[in-house]
Amino acid sequence: MASLGAVRPETLPINKSTCKFCALPVQWVRTRDDRPIPMQPGEFPAWAIPVDRRWSFTRDRLHHAPWLDGLEKCRLVHLDVCPARPKPENAVMLELWERLRARAERQNGGIPVEQVLLEEEPEAGATLEP
Ligand SMILES: [Zn+2]
Repeated sequence: MASLGAVRPETLPINKSTCKFCALPVQWVRTRDDRPIPMQPGEFPAWAIPVDRRWSFTRDRLHHAPWLDGLEKCRLVHLDVCPARPKPENAVMLELWERLRARAERQNGGIPVEQVLLEEEPEAGATLEP
């Protein structure tokens, strides 16, 4: 990529879709090594997110960003807060997980998210093809 500097997230080639495990919206974004990763929509304060769970956009790609300053915003991989997966330990991620779980159940007519599963349980750290 020839351009330098940050690119606003909305200018990135984002593919909006839904998670196949909870049926909630996700944003598919490519990493620098061209892997598609389902991201949780929205930005989060880096100070509240564990260092190893912080992601960011640089230029036109998504990358893991453990170095982010706590005052900056970061992005989360959806599978880290997917309500079809086990509860995260981090307090902010757990709060988001609980909100997403309630949203998923509302969206799916009160059906518990476990019954929404379309496929097998995702493995920890797995990335999914759209
Ligand atoms: Zn999900």
